[in-house]
Amino acid sequence: MSPISNPCIKRAAELRNLLNKAGHAYYVLDNPFLEDSVYDQLYRELIDLENRYPSLVTPDSPSQRLGGKPAKSFNTIKHRIPLFSLDNAFNIKEVSNWISRLNKLRTTSLSSNSQFTMISELKIDGNALALSYSNGVLTKAATRGDGANGEEITSNVRTITSIPLRLQMNNPPEWLEVRGEAFIPEASFVKINSERKKVGEVLFANPRNACAGTLRQLNPQVVASRKLDFFAYTMHLPEQEHMDPMNIPNNQWEALQWLQTVGFKVNPNTSLINNIKELKDFYDQWEINRTHLPYATDGVVIKINSFDLQKKAGFTNKSPRWAIALKYPAEETATQLIKLTYQIGRTGVITPVAEFQPVSLAGTSVSRATLHNADRLKALDLHSGDTVIIRKAGEIIPEVVRILPELRLPKAEQLELPKECPECSSPLTRTAKEAATRCINNSCPAILKACLKHWVGKKSMDIEGLGNKLIDQVVEMNLVKSIWQLYELDQSVWESMERMGQKSAEKIVQSLDKSKKKSWDKQLYGLGINHIGAANAKALTKEFRNIEELSRAANTSSESIQSIDGFGKEIAESLHEWFNNPSNQELIFNLKRLGFSLSTKDLHLTNKTHMNIGLFHDKTFVITGKMPTLSRIDAQKMIENAGGKTNSAISKNTSYLLTGEKAGSKLTKALELGITIINEKDFLTLLSLEEEYYS
Ligand code: NAD
Repeated sequence: MSPISNPCIKRAAELRNLLNKAGHAYYVLDNPFLEDSVYDQLYRELIDLENRYPSLVTPDSPSQRLGGKPAKSFNTIKHRIPLFSLDNAFNIKEVSNWISRLNKLRTTSLSSNSQFTMISELKIDGNALALSYSNGVLTKAATRGDGANGEEITSNVRTITSIPLRLQMNNPPEWLEVRGEAFIPEASFVKINSERKKVGEVLFANPRNACAGTLRQLNPQVVASRKLDFFAYTMHLPEQEHMDPMNIPNNQWEALQWLQTVGFKVNPNTSLINNIKELKDFYDQWEINRTHLPYATDGVVIKINSFDLQKKAGFTNKSPRWAIALKYPAEETATQLIKLTYQIGRTGVITPVAEFQPVSLAGTSVSRATLHNADRLKALDLHSGDTVIIRKAGEIIPEVVRILPELRLPKAEQLELPKECPECSSPLTRTAKEAATRCINNSCPAILKACLKHWVGKKSMDIEGLGNKLIDQVVEMNLVKSIWQLYELDQSVWESMERMGQKSAEKIVQSLDKSKKKSWDKQLYGLGINHIGAANAKALTKEFRNIEELSRAANTSSESIQSIDGFGKEIAESLHEWFNNPSNQELIFNLKRLGFSLSTKDLHLTNKTHMNIGLFHDKTFVITGKMPTLSRIDAQKMIENAGGKTNSAISKNTSYLLTGEKAGSKLTKALELGITIINEKDFLTLLSLEEEYYS
């Protein structure tokens, strides 16, 4: 084994320290300061280090402990059978590995049967309870505590109306233990927090912490008022039970039914599964459906169904080998910064970008996030090698939310924007009224590259086969100094580029030629004028029939621009500045010479699309998830053709949320705000109904 490097020893110690503090805040104080997913990610990092270097494991490592210490305010109860946690998987592949491990174990010791049956249950985000029944009567209730000892909270648990005080069974055994999850329904959680807010108390971070805090209330009346609920998920009987063996469950599926028969509430969303495909279907189905449940869930739990096989699989020191929790993708996670790079946009704005160790976030792997500007960089107090918290929060673009200074490396340097453009070395400038820092060198190759990439992009000229790498090459070889020069390159030049052949070069030339017929609004958008995005370009081209009219207005009549709905001084100034730049005049001249009309005359509007203008007038759409047939860009085009707008975030002004598979948190937000939710079919119906109406 390779010797342990000093940074690893230090990192393990820092992780232990931070995770222990977080565990205390979470389990004991019911007041976490880390997101669960951030805790999970850092915990995984520690486990990886400990697996690589077992001598790093210390007795106080969170990997050696389960849960928190029982609070002193309650009597401690020793569990008859220890309460374990669950091992976590973060994707289907990890569950598949778990099944393979079990299969290996099965061939050696479990049994010789072929594939074992599993059961999939929802993972309720609450707190485990152990309920002891003596001769059918509830006598003791305890929290999980550290797994071996819990807090005795019987009086509090007696207030939970879904927990039977006496079991509905004849000849109950002398003792019997039922386990399950106590939880606070979402509606009660919202109510509790709004009451706490009114009296200035600290709010609970989530329903699970609210539930833990409530179970530890010293006054059972308060507990009763908070309307806790409980789902039972397992039971333990004495080994030599005198009950009729016919009535003793042999597997988890039967156990859930048995629990229901004796009076418990059992979560109905459970399924027997035989392979990974069935598991994936269950997991995917509940990823959306769980957002409609009145209680919080954070994943699914997969268990071997047979008790006999469970027994043979056994336990590790923290969790059963026969079960695993597959969590739903996190919206926030932790990772380590590799370096800070810079992006230079078409308007010269320099944007710092954090490049970090790839992490899975909301289902996709991410490795970079923009930090927006110098102020944001400063506010984050980012240092080299920092541990950063990344969030997606329903948005497509990941962002760095904050850093964990506790895990900062020794001698880490504070990171800030450079004074000079990293591409052309000209001094960077920043005006007092702007947050952006810019390179104002007109011939900066980075700005030129960004302008060209914007021009050939999908939403502008959509030049097939002309990707970022080719653009970089033509700029670096000094072949192109302005957009129009792309059109003057001979096919042989494209052919001579890296990894290019005759066919691909031909495709580029044809696609460039075809682009001369693109609509006026796409041409205007493609010019990349500051503040003129796709929607503003559309609005301008409705108002001004050609570039001459627009140029005249920009130079002489800023009011006619500012009178357009949503346009203000800033946009008018930006247009004025752009049209006054001689190199842009030269660009217009050359584009026209090459055959671009830069006017409405190229708008190939069919009668149908003409009629559609206004169909979705005043309507704002947000699109989320993967639709069965339409791509996002297609849907966006259809909405815009029909006069509507699209937005990336849900707000109370959103008219429709157009959803597909894996809709995520936008769906939750839309539900909260009462926004109309439609799927692809509804959308197409809506569009065709409206078309009929207008035709
Ligand atoms: P866990 O919550 O990830 O999973 C185990 C628990 O799931 C069981 O104890 C059980 O109570 C529950 N569960 C729900 N539905 C179940 C079902 N159908 N079948 C079986 N069990 C079911 O693990 P944990 O040990 O309770 O807590 C560890 C987790 O707590 C961490 O993964 C982390 O997310 C969180 N944590 C967060 C912080 C923080 O600072 N935010 C600190 C410590 C721990």
